[in-house]
Formats: sequence, C-alpha cells, structure tokens
Amino acid sequence: MSIIRLDQVSKYYKSEETVSVGMKKVSLSFDLGEFVAVTGESGSGKSTLLNVISGLDGYEEGELYLFDEETSHYTIADWERYRGAYIGFVFQNYNIIDSYTVYQNVMLALEIQGYPKKDRKKRAFELIDKVGLTSHRHHKASKLSGGQKQRAVIARALAKDCPVIVADEPTGNLDSQSATQIMKLLHDISEGKLVIVVTHDYDQVKNYATRKIKMHDGEVVEDKVLHDHEIPTQINPVELKKTSFWTLTRFAVRNMFSTPKKSLFLLIMQILVIAVFTLVYTDQMKNIREEGLEQSQIFPNVPETRVLIEKRDGSEFSESEINDFKALSVVKEVYEHGSLFYNEMELSIKGSNEYSFGYIEGTDSAIVLSELEITGRLPVAIDEVVISSHWQSFNVGDTIELFNGYYYQENDNISFGTFKVVGIDNQDRNMIYFSDAYLKQDLEIDKQLDISRYENTRSSISYQMSFDFEGESVYVERSYEPIQADIVFYGTGEPTRIENQTIEIRTYSSTGIELTKTLTDISIIVYENFENEYYKRVSMDQEIYDNLVEEFMLEVEFEYMLPERNLLSLSVSGLNHGNRIIEMVDSEIYKVYYPANISSPMREVLVFLSGLLAIVLLSLFGLFLYAIVHAVTRNVMNARKKDFAIYRSIGANQTSLAKLVVIEQIIMAVVGFVLTLLILNLLSSSIPMIQKTLPYMEIQDYLILMIAFVLFGLWLGLRFNKKVFKQTVIETLSASKGE
Ligand code: ADP
Ligand code: MG
Repeated sequence: MSIIRLDQVSKYYKSEETVSVGMKKVSLSFDLGEFVAVTGESGSGKSTLLNVISGLDGYEEGELYLFDEETSHYTIADWERYRGAYIGFVFQNYNIIDSYTVYQNVMLALEIQGYPKKDRKKRAFELIDKVGLTSHRHHKASKLSGGQKQRAVIARALAKDCPVIVADEPTGNLDSQSATQIMKLLHDISEGKLVIVVTHDYDQVKNYATRKIKMHDGEVVEDKVLHDHEIPTQINPVELKKTSFWTLTRFAVRNMFSTPKKSLFLLIMQILVIAVFTLVYTDQMKNIREEGLEQSQIFPNVPETRVLIEKRDGSEFSESEINDFKALSVVKEVYEHGSLFYNEMELSIKGSNEYSFGYIEGTDSAIVLSELEITGRLPVAIDEVVISSHWQSFNVGDTIELFNGYYYQENDNISFGTFKVVGIDNQDRNMIYFSDAYLKQDLEIDKQLDISRYENTRSSISYQMSFDFEGESVYVERSYEPIQADIVFYGTGEPTRIENQTIEIRTYSSTGIELTKTLTDISIIVYENFENEYYKRVSMDQEIYDNLVEEFMLEVEFEYMLPERNLLSLSVSGLNHGNRIIEMVDSEIYKVYYPANISSPMREVLVFLSGLLAIVLLSLFGLFLYAIVHAVTRNVMNARKKDFAIYRSIGANQTSLAKLVVIEQIIMAVVGFVLTLLILNLLSSSIPMIQKTLPYMEIQDYLILMIAFVLFGLWLGLRFNKKVFKQTVIETLSASKGE
C-alpha cells in the first residue's frame, strides 16, 4: 500500500481568457521512507504536483488516492485533517509570519497541533537549535535573511512530527552554502518519512535522494529509483487536538501585539466610532427619558435638580434617614433646611446702582454646577453666590442684596441680606446659586417671611378673582358697604336684577396655580351702561368675598406654610435622576415632590414614539459608521490573508481560524468600548456636552451598546473568514504575493 498515489491526475489553471496546463495525466505513487527529488525546468509543473499531493490545491481530472482511498469526496475539513495529520511544508518563498519572531512561528505550529503544553517551549528551542537559529530565536521573521527564514520555516515544518514533508524549491533563493545546509537538514530528519523535494539543482540532493522524478510540460518524463529505501511498518500521523478557546485567545492577543501599529490604528478607529455612537445614543436616551416631562406649576421656580421629600406623618427626619438618602447614588447632596431655597416666593436682587436689579426665577445649590459652566468660581463662604449671566449688569466681585417680592414693590420687600458674587453662570438660566455653607446653616426662619408669604398668596388670590358673564371675563372686588345683591355691576343707567345665578369663580395663587369655586343661588344687579373694562371691577358682598378668599387659601396652604413643614431637599443631576428617586423612595413612608417634573398624560405614547424615532435614527447613523469601520477593517484584514494561509498550511482548520478572527474582533470591541467609556468619563470634566448627557446612561444602556459592538465585531470577523476560506491555500498565497 502506498501512502500517496496519483492516477492520471490533471490540473488546469483557468484565468479569464486562457486555460494553462499545470500538469497532465500524472500517475505516481509514493511510499514512506523515500527521499524524492523532483526536477524539471521552470513551468514544468513541479509546484503544481506538490500542491495537489498535499491537498493545498484542487485538480480537475484523474484521482488522488491516500492510503488507497479515493479523495474525490473530500471536503475542506477532510483536506484540513489530512494536511494536519500528515503533511509538513516548506515553501520556496519561505511563507513565514513576518510579524512573529522565529520562536513564535515555531510555537504556532506546536500550539495548533495541540502539542503538550509543558513540553512546548523545550521542543521549540530544540527545533530552532536543530536548524541553527539559536541566536536568532527572538528575532522578528521580517528581519531575517533568506537562508535564516527558510531554516525557520523548516523548524516550523518539523514542529509537527508528520510522516510527509514536501519542500518546494526550499533552496531556490539561497546561496549554495546555505542551500547545502538546508538539504542536509532535510535529509537528517527524513528517516522513516516521505520527503519530496523540488529542486532545479539536482546536484544538491543527489547524495540523499532515493528517487528522481523529472517533469516537462506538466508531464512526468522520468521516474527513476536510485537507492533502495526501507519501508517503515508503522505510520504515525500527528494526533490533532482541537485548538482550545484559551489557545486561540492567546493567538488573538499575540497577533494584536505583534502588529502594534495596525492594532493601535484599528483601536483608535473603533474608539472614535464607539464614542460618536455612544454620544448620539446617550443624547437620544436623554430625549426619550425627558419626553413628556415638564415644569410643575406648583413650584415654578424649583429647578429640575431639586427633589423634595416629606414624611407622610409629617415628623422630622432622623439622622439615619438623612444618611440613607445621602447614600443613594443619584443624590448629590441632602439639605435639611429646604426653606432656605425660597422656592415658594418671588425673589429679586438689587446691585449697587439703580440699573442693576432683577427678578429671580429660581434658586439652587451650587453643587449642581460645574466649574466649566461658570466664569469665576463656585461659592464657598456663607455669603458667596453664583448668579446667572441673564442680568448683564452684574459682575464677579459685585455685592448684591437679595429680597422677596418684585423690585418695584419696595415697601413690601424683606431683605435676606447681602451676598458677594464670586461666579457668573454662563448659561442664561435666571438663577441664583448658594453655597453649601449657606444652605446648611441652622436658621430659625424669620417670622417676617412667614407673614410675607401669607400676604403674597392672599393678595394674589384676591386680586385675580374673576368669573365669566355673558361671554366676558369680569373681576370682582370686595364691597366695603352692604349692597342690594350678592354682586353688583355699576353703570350709569337703570338696574336689572337677576336671581338664582350659578357662577364659577376662578383665581390664581402667588405661584400661578389656577383655583376655581362654583357659587350657586347668586343674585346679581346689572346697571345699564355697565362698562366692562378690566380695571372696572364688579362689587361682591363682603361676606361671600371673605369666605371665598379663605376657602381658596386653604387649598394653597403649602405656599405659605412650607417653612413649618419638615421637608428634605435632595440635589440631583437632572430629570432622569430625579425620576429615579421617585421610583426608589418608599412611597408608604415618604412623599416625594418633584416640582420640576410632571408627567404629561400622553407621556407613554410620546416615549414610545420618540423611542421609535431614536431606533430609526440610530440605525441609520450606525449604518453610516459601519460602512467606515468595515472598509478600514477589510483593508487591514486583507493584508493578513497571507498569515491566515500560513496558519492553514500548518494545520489550523477553518473552525479554529473562524474562532480566532471572531475572538480578535470581540477583544477589539470590548477593549475599544471600555477605553471609550474611560475616555468619555475623563473628557466629561472638560466638555459640558458630555457631562450633561453621560448621567443619562444606565447600566442597561451600557450593556446594550456593548452587546451591539460585540455583535458587530462578530459579524465583521465571520464575513472576513468566509471570504478567506472561499479560496484554497495556494490561491490565497498567490493572490497575496501580488500585493
Ligand atoms: P514549476 O513549479 O515547475 O515552475 P508550476 O507548477 O508552477 O511549475 O507551473 C506549471 C504551469 O502552470 C506553468 O505553465 C504555469 O504558468 C502554470 N501556472 C502555475 N500556477 C498558475 C496560476 N496560479 N495561474 C495560472 N497558471 C499557473
Ligand atoms: Mg514552482
């Protein structure tokens, strides 16, 4: 039984226009123990023969028998198994992985065949010693001379102790001295093996060859046995083990480090794409999470960075409760004296001259500001503040006075003292920001403020009471003398009396809440020529009027009773975290007011729609970024095709290479993603846009993104792999030669 037998095998190379003959009706058989020299002029079909024998390339006609078995039904996997178990190659153009060291090239072969781990290193060193490269072990292959490369390749071929060694002009590019050494080396290891050496210089092998085959024009023209050879009784194919996941991961990492520039380029590329996509994604999430949320009318001047909490039984918060709130990850700070924020009253500021004054829309703790948003610095001392750039007449260094009410109601104003402006908020937010020292001071709230709050609310309610009469809105005022009906419209003509009227009185509290009350059984006198202009009010019976005001006041108690209540104020980064607190805090015990945020009844629909829109936008954007990454990765990967062909030629199979490519891509995606997040977090302290949006990301968002990027890597890897395995090893190698 011969190990390899060809029966009338023909191979043609088809290109677009021409068909050339590689070899024609070749019939040969080979045994173990032979040292075969194949000669013939260039183009005679020597390489073709070798490639077909070793299953690196296909053929068109005839049949190749391995151990007397037909191979026409062989699949890619069968050929891989055959090559892996029986064949070691040495190519003419020393197919070596240039980015690896000699040691790594040899190790690769040992690892792919699953050589016992503990002996691997020793074996690699032995082989390297054997080919005389001891001093070049750790040199990169690209830095070696031709002879050295060829010796490294032989060491790699020997790493697999396989029964057949084929060498295609192993000395073709070497000087005669190196050539002699290589041939001797091949002979030294040939015992019990089948060695087939192609050479154009027969003299180099004539001492070792047991058989000579000469080719011409694709045909065998001479086949002569020179010496007897011993046929070993036993064939010892290499036992192939599956390449483990960890070995592949090690390959992947090694590949990245052996081409640092390429890897770095790909990584930077990935980071850019991931960063841009993450930011766009975050921005979309921010939109979705804020969809349908709007500023409450109850505390119009409470910013979205402030959440109020009260206990349902009205009792004071204990030290441990306060600490529990402080411990929440979304809470920046807890303030026990929420009333110092003055959110329930109108505030004004006054500067040193008559032009510097303004009405304040809201107050907050400076803890919600970042240094980036302000000119100057953040407040520290009790009397330091940051104010909005909204009032251009104030500057850093100014002294301002803060008081309640509008600046023109000078008589009613109560001053809260003077403050030093240490920073100007660059955004036009119309706010004033206090220091922690100010907001945490243990102040007894001024009685005056209570009275003032009460009066503010009361005057607002009384001043704005109105109802609709004959399609027009009329305002009511209190009559100070008894009148003949419940309501009187004064005019210059004759009076008309109407009984049993039902009217709906409406008014607004000092913070703008609309209040209504229905009055029934009302008598009205309307004089002719009643002038309904808004400043001409109608008179209302004083008892009805006073009762109305008191009833309205009961409904808005919180506006003037707030300081007496035990309210905690929590600072958060914005609406998203504010909403999280509503979800997190136990609603049995606590009541959470988030004045800045009321959900619109349509919120769920809006969130759904904007989610849909976001998916479309993100997909389109992702597609665009994908095109870029794909183009770049394809180029980088194409440059590695030769390496992959070499992997295959030394026994790596399609599945493990597929896994390798995929692992590489996944490592790239994961490393890229982690680095991107680190970079974004670092940048967020100097780029306000990132600082504003990043807090909107939640764990599941990171997971979604991560999975998306990993899947993307997976897909890229598989695509590349499919392409590489469409070709035979030889096709890949000859294609990459031209590049
Ligand atoms: P040798 O190794 O003896 O120089 P080859 O086996 O490489 O010869 O080539 C045999 C014939 O097949 C030559 O005519 C050559 O031009 C042709 N040939 C070899 N490889 C290819 C190829 N990839 N595409 C087209 N023709 C090829
Ligand atoms: Mg050749």
